Amino acid sequence: MKILLLGKNGQVGWELQRALAPLGTVIALDRTATAEGLCGDLTNVPALIATINQIRPDVVVNAAAYTAVDKAEQELALAEQINRDAVASMANACQQIDALLIHYSTDYVFDGSGSSAWFEADTTKPLNVYGKTKRDGEQAILDSGCKTLIFRTSWVYATRGNNFIKTMLRLAQEREQLNIIDDQCGAPTSAALIADVTAHALKAYADSERVVKIEIDNQYKSGTDNLHSTALHSGVYHLTAAGEISWYGYAQFIFEQARALGATLKLEQVNPIASSAYPTPAIRPLNSRLNLSKIQHAFHLTLPDWQQGVLHTLQALIEEKTGK
Ligand code: NDP
Repeated sequence: MKILLLGKNGQVGWELQRALAPLGTVIALDRTATAEGLCGDLTNVPALIATINQIRPDVVVNAAAYTAVDKAEQELALAEQINRDAVASMANACQQIDALLIHYSTDYVFDGSGSSAWFEADTTKPLNVYGKTKRDGEQAILDSGCKTLIFRTSWVYATRGNNFIKTMLRLAQEREQLNIIDDQCGAPTSAALIADVTAHALKAYADSERVVKIEIDNQYKSGTDNLHSTALHSGVYHLTAAGEISWYGYAQFIFEQARALGATLKLEQVNPIASSAYPTPAIRPLNSRLNLSKIQHAFHLTLPDWQQGVLHTLQALIEEKTGK
């Protein structure tokens, strides 16, 4: 299997380089052009499409995105170019060469109302520019008719890149008191889990595609009239760790476990606050819970509780810092 990976140095892209490796040949690109003239820059669509047509991959995995949620409110055109327009062109190119497009989206496509976990088919209604551009990117892929797996995830962290765990560890070493939002609920999800589930789903998808091809070949040989192809899992899936927590509860967990792992923190008090007490340029949804039944059922998976990945990452970060 030939896999083209875009956004190789992001939190998820980095982990995908590892997780996709056993599945075939991975050509991993970032936004800088390679010596061979390959281009993974989503703001240079002609060069990006030429790259897809030159490589003719079986699968394009797009981990590149405009992810600066607050900045997007001021940079609408750039966010649209990367998250919507480049994705639309990528999807059309995949459709033309019959490649599978794996793409990532976000809980921010929902408006955060209510307290039930969102299903894939629920109506999207983003509250901010980033969420709207990501929703439009999803829609463009579905409209293109290409084979696709779109994974909506939430609250991503990794040992690499900027994320909530790293910010909390830094602030807890600098300050005695912190105010953390307690009315937004979701599931912290590690980039490693997203990458591992992606690899698992891709393998299952490729296997089922082979089975369908054999079925169709057999029907053709036996002269059956009604040739048909089974739906090959193509579509949108929610992919997060299991369970739920508020940012405040998540922060408390980080501080408790960091101390248990031997980190020295200056922090003495953590105060829960409402979102309204911490205004940001982009409005965030209060309810980011995503229902996981579809992905677990379709790909025979059990997603682990969010605490497991957070602990693993905390341990790695603290060991790295203390040199243990
Ligand atoms: P990161 O911000 O860590 O990585 C995004 C990557 O995209 C970076 O490597 C960045 O490159 C690259 N990129 C940005 N602009 C371009 C461009 N014009 N051309 C090529 N590459 C570009 O994001 P994550 O790994 O956390 O996110 C992966 C996916 O998950 C995204 O689709 C995101 O929308 C989604 N998601 C993320 C969440 C989160 O909490 N982080 C939550 C929900 C969904 P560079 O480093 O050069 O800027």
